[in-house]
Amino acid sequence: MNRYTPCPCDSKQLYHKCCKPFHDGELPEDAKVLMRSRYCAYALGLVDYIMDTTHPENDAYSSDREQWKKELMIFSKLTQFCGLTILECIPGEESATVTFTAFLKQGVEDGTLTEKSTFVKEQGRWLYRDGVLAE
Ligand SMILES: [Zn+2]
Repeated sequence: MNRYTPCPCDSKQLYHKCCKPFHDGELPEDAKVLMRSRYCAYALGLVDYIMDTTHPENDAYSSDREQWKKELMIFSKLTQFCGLTILECIPGEESATVTFTAFLKQGVEDGTLTEKSTFVKEQGRWLYRDGVLAE
């Protein structure tokens, strides 16, 4: 990754001007930005960022950080992140939803999915609460 690398979140911006500041610790201002930066983190294998932005009540959340990290790394490595389309955002002060299609591939398998994600803001930070897959 260098400063001329297009951002893997498919924003058509450069990574260092798009998601990198969030991966470096800046807080995303809204749920949509967090969603993009999480997709980007999956694509780059920045799994600590995924764990740090997942709400403790999410089904995937695990207090066994090492094991969780391993699982995320495997997913990240086996998956190609081919693009992201945001379909709808319903913003809010303390909770928000973002519906998106993530274009994914695992080997020759198409793993593309459409999900409606719910995000909540706690102590000033947006967190991924849960998601429902669309048909
Ligand atoms: Zn980005």
